[in-house]
Amino acid sequence: MLINLHSHLEGRVRPSTAAELASGFGLPEPPEGWKRAFRLDRPGDLTVYLAKVAASYPFFRRLDTLERIAREAVEDAAAAGQDYLELRFGPATHADDERGLAEVIAAVCRGMAAGSVASGMPSGAVVAALRHHDADTNLALARAAAGAGVCGFDLAGDESRFPRLDVHVPAFAVARAAGLGITCHAAEAGPASAVQDAVRLLGATRIGHGAHLVDAAEVLAWAAAEGVFVEVCPTSNWYTGAIPAIARHPAPTMREAGVRVVLGDDNPMQTGSDLAGERAVLVAQLGWGAPALAALDRAGVDAAFLEPEVRRGLLARLDD
Ligand SMILES: [Zn+2]
Repeated sequence: MLINLHSHLEGRVRPSTAAELASGFGLPEPPEGWKRAFRLDRPGDLTVYLAKVAASYPFFRRLDTLERIAREAVEDAAAAGQDYLELRFGPATHADDERGLAEVIAAVCRGMAAGSVASGMPSGAVVAALRHHDADTNLALARAAAGAGVCGFDLAGDESRFPRLDVHVPAFAVARAAGLGITCHAAEAGPASAVQDAVRLLGATRIGHGAHLVDAAEVLAWAAAEGVFVEVCPTSNWYTGAIPAIARHPAPTMREAGVRVVLGDDNPMQTGSDLAGERAVLVAQLGWGAPALAALDRAGVDAAFLEPEVRRGLLARLDD
């Protein structure tokens, strides 16, 4: 099964859509086209990686294009065989005086709903607070996300430059009170202890990447005992420099320690690897066989921020 629990809308803009929309935004055609403009060509660090993702940001400056990109992202995932897509995005980056946070969130939710209706694939929107935004901005974002029809709340951005989590505690308290599922990018560029901080301070039940979780055996054991899910995205971790080679991704170590691993493709336009590609990486480069893949599928359905009815449907398909 292809349960995609870590994927960014900003990393799923079709190059063909960018080419079509660019002139309307006054953007020149990049010398080698939009596909090359989005795509990473070699591993670097998280800051370089995020700059590539930001190449898509101009296309999020109108509500109609936001809606279109969200719809296309869901349709593309369904066409690629995915069974469920949780799509995260950073509304505060795309809002301004003309488009408030609530309008940005509503536009993405409309697009995703249309994509799910057209494709038959369920999807859920996750609002991402950003590390470089101040506490007040993220608190306003959490208030806008509450009751907006999204399923989760995340903290994303540059962990190497903005490691603090304590300042975002009020925003996550609002998101939890609204019943949103909580995930947090942590231990991607930071230490293993960032996973504990994300769980204890923000209430995260899922950790994005967690590549450095395995650096501290006691924290790894703690994460397993707590039932923390780790959303792994191996190819993305290689491009951000979180791991030295895809074959050395720590997912097998997490699994051996009893941590439940789930899968995401993070930013497939930047990495060139979508969820099916990441699942193939687990098999070809990390040696996962049928039992490990079955556990991955089950963990994906258990960890997803799903309505009970949709979860039951996915579980029934797993049992088949
Ligand atoms: Zn991410």
